[in-house]
Amino acid sequence: MKLYSTNRSVDEVNLKEAVFKGLPDDNGLYMPTHIPTLPDSFFENIDKLSFQEIAFEVCKALIGDDVEEAALKKITEDVLSFDAPVVSVTDNTSVLELFHGPSFAFKDFGARFMARLMAYFLEKEQKEINILVATSGDTGSAVAQGFLGMSGIRVTILYPSGKVSEIQEKQLTTLGNNITALEVNGTFDDCQRLVKEAFLDQELKTRMNLSSANSINISRLIPQSFYYFYAYAQLKKADKLPVVFATPSGNFGNLCGGLIAKRMGLPIEKFVAATNANDIVPAYLRTGKFSPRPSIKTISNAMDVGNPSNFARLMALYENDLEKIKSEIDGRTYSDEETRTAIKSIFERTGYIMDPHGAVAFLGLSDYLAESGSGAHGIFLATAHPAKFIEVVEEVIDRKIELPDALKEAFEKKKTSYPLEPNLAALKNFLLK
Ligand SMILES: *Cc1c(COP(=O)(O)O)cnc(C)c1O
Repeated sequence: MKLYSTNRSVDEVNLKEAVFKGLPDDNGLYMPTHIPTLPDSFFENIDKLSFQEIAFEVCKALIGDDVEEAALKKITEDVLSFDAPVVSVTDNTSVLELFHGPSFAFKDFGARFMARLMAYFLEKEQKEINILVATSGDTGSAVAQGFLGMSGIRVTILYPSGKVSEIQEKQLTTLGNNITALEVNGTFDDCQRLVKEAFLDQELKTRMNLSSANSINISRLIPQSFYYFYAYAQLKKADKLPVVFATPSGNFGNLCGGLIAKRMGLPIEKFVAATNANDIVPAYLRTGKFSPRPSIKTISNAMDVGNPSNFARLMALYENDLEKIKSEIDGRTYSDEETRTAIKSIFERTGYIMDPHGAVAFLGLSDYLAESGSGAHGIFLATAHPAKFIEVVEEVIDRKIELPDALKEAFEKKKTSYPLEPNLAALKNFLLK
């Protein structure tokens, strides 16, 4: 597999380099130089394959010999140790539940794949690395769970004290093992700044092998294509094709996973890119102008992004051709009020409980299907378990919801975190001791 930078001013790299570098030196994003098409026979038989088998075939075609076949098989099997079921919600819509992993959010797919790929490359070299990651909530717990127990990898998570939800904090601070949580006396921006400063520090560079688990890492994108294929397979089995997908979007990594699946030949009629009030991409699709701005706080807060980091990948996939993008992607945006109403009305009509992110996608999907007159079946992606947003969801549906056992257990465990003042000297002191 060869990868180029979307800014086109550095050389192509192989997968290993792209994974450990994260960002190319020209500040672009890595993209595959070639996206292969899978053979017709694969799509004809896809409904007879398991999730793990589908993922292996997709991954093998994309990655090629950068990872030995047997190791790749083991990696895809390990990553997908939980299901991603398609569940029927209304006559013409279903939900793809992406929250059955250890952190109860879809970021598990990316984080688990990245962790196993890194471990594979490190084992060959007998090297150790230190992963530093700043989090405002969801990313940290997916990364921590993804790397938990991996030998040769130490993970340090920086989170802002008092600014993540109680569940999120427990998910970050109760794992132990190779995971350490630093409770920063500051904001999320402080945490992010500290991580950036650490990567620029010469002493840390020479004394520690630092690496990032940033969400723009190509190894987090690749596995986000797998479940589009698997959802298609489930619909094919139920004889409900063709399909439209609606993806709740913030940095647009999840959507890019779907676009790659389509390039590999997966027959997808349309993508609906649904956002909350942070409507940078839907506005771009409407006006042709890309205008990043500071993010607005909403109840679907994992999508509160004012400058979507995967926009460059979106443009690269369509060679900056707005008309081409619009022919495949329909952009939609929804307020918190509309999101709350959707959660409530779907619960009352069907008993299904959506989290605020999934609800935004559901709204986009319903509106698209109604307006376009498409006879397709719609699948919206549920990116988080409703219990992760328990305060909002319980208030809207006016009843208690059950916490999954693993979240209950995390709640009962004792928090272990190390307080940190928001300056580089304090962080260095901690890392080097
Ligand atoms: C990160 C996240 C999103 C947004 O995904 P992107 O790939 O950034 O578009 C949506 N929902 C949840 C629950 C998330 O954690």
